[in-house]
Amino acid sequence: MDAWERELLSLVTFFVPPHAAMNQINDGLVFIASDGSVLNRTSASFGVTIYNATTQTNILQAKGPAPGSRPSSFQAEAYGALAALRAVWRLSQYTTIVPSSTICHWIDNSALVRRLQRELKRVYQDPHATLQPDWDVVQCIVSTVRSLGTTSSYSVKWIKSHQDEHQPIRELSFAARLNCEADKLAGEFQSSFYRHRPIVPMIAGTGAQLFIGGETVNGNYKQAIRNALSLPPYYAYLEQRFGWTPEDRQAVDWESFCRVIRSFWTPQATVVKHIHGIAPTGKYANRYDKHQPASCPACQHESECNNHLLSCSAPSRQQWRVKFKRRVYGLQQGKTQTDPLLWQILDAGLCRVHRGDPSPIDAGHFPTDYRRLIQHQNRIGWIQLFRGRWAQQWGMLHEKRGLGKDPTSIYKTGVDWTSAVGRVFMTSWLDLWNLRNTERHTRDETNRDSNLRTILRLQLTEIYSYRNSVRPVDRDLYQYATAEDHLHQGQSLEALQDWCSDTYPAVLASVSLAARLGVQNNTGIAGYMLRNENT
Ligand SMILES: [Zn+2]
Repeated sequence: MDAWERELLSLVTFFVPPHAAMNQINDGLVFIASDGSVLNRTSASFGVTIYNATTQTNILQAKGPAPGSRPSSFQAEAYGALAALRAVWRLSQYTTIVPSSTICHWIDNSALVRRLQRELKRVYQDPHATLQPDWDVVQCIVSTVRSLGTTSSYSVKWIKSHQDEHQPIRELSFAARLNCEADKLAGEFQSSFYRHRPIVPMIAGTGAQLFIGGETVNGNYKQAIRNALSLPPYYAYLEQRFGWTPEDRQAVDWESFCRVIRSFWTPQATVVKHIHGIAPTGKYANRYDKHQPASCPACQHESECNNHLLSCSAPSRQQWRVKFKRRVYGLQQGKTQTDPLLWQILDAGLCRVHRGDPSPIDAGHFPTDYRRLIQHQNRIGWIQLFRGRWAQQWGMLHEKRGLGKDPTSIYKTGVDWTSAVGRVFMTSWLDLWNLRNTERHTRDETNRDSNLRTILRLQLTEIYSYRNSVRPVDRDLYQYATAEDHLHQGQSLEALQDWCSDTYPAVLASVSLAARLGVQNNTGIAGYMLRNENT
């Protein structure tokens, strides 16, 4: 046996001796149930049980590891299916008995069921199929089914998982009961041998494997190669930008981060700037254009930086904070089945962000299980919660509480929970950004009016200074005694602007004509009479 197969079949339990087992496999209808388990996308395992439904006899059970650098449930389930079929094949080789029964294979992962059904029907090899995730395991399952011989009738079917959570096990169908047993076996293996297995042994028929950074890549090859090239310099930038160590960066749940930012693709430039802490607040706008004010449009704080956005104490921002807290509270009341202590820790972190307080939370005030979470988020930064960067511990603690399997919970995995809460934070930040932009726009508008008023005052003063220099007949152009009177007549700035632009050229023309005609400082006959009456 090759190393990969030895590892796969290292924990097999026979309920009957090998020849009797093979005879059972050939007697009537045989059920295979296989299941997988993945914890924290770190350690994965499988469980298998083979049972004769006709004679109601347990034939064999197996459990073992499902290696992978970032194992998925698909992968773990596929290893379970492979182990079951290799066990039957090895048994048939050992006993020299050819399988001839009807085998029904129950799997609770619909993606794997569909893929196997498709691959088993495939007549010609497709080179593109080799690039699909976990092709190594799938091709070996298919070739094992084929090598079991044409006399064996094999079918793969989907079964709903964890049915024992809603119904007593004795009331379940055979298939459902076997699925629960396989699940239990996979869980048992995790309890005894929880371990990260980043190197995948080369399964027979695979031919080639991709290794990056000492880990096997089993799918999404293009993305993996692209990441291997671009992520190291990007990580170095992030570490420098936020003062992280490589460990701090690794403590971030990057999978949830990707899920969060994927939901905010429309205001892409805004989101990209925001997650790097360089949203164009006053401080940055002023750095690139000295005419732009650096101050906060809501509270007149002299330097509006990205952190100030969240800690600004202006009334409008307090209102935003109330709305945001209501949203978080809404999540708390929903079916998230979250550990109440996680909300408490989140609340403590949020208070710091809103106070603009960079000091770390004292983990010592919380139970031991939660201290790593607090320490990691302290290092990553609490403000990073608004940028989608949550410590992996959030998701792990959500899963660990065991409520992930609660059928009423809408967040089954830690990543589901973290990305859902992360999205609420990101949405709220975008709301805040829009609010801030409106305030900034309003301030600019107000400033625009006062600047325009200054310009108009200067123009009016100049126009009124020509009052005695225009031709007497044109003095009717002046509606008021002085420029100040004119300015304070309650006309809109636009009306004043129109008046100035109409009158100014007329006044200049009249001044020059009056100078030519020598009629400057003259008064009209009516004015002359009036002046004489007064004297
Ligand atoms: Zn402010």
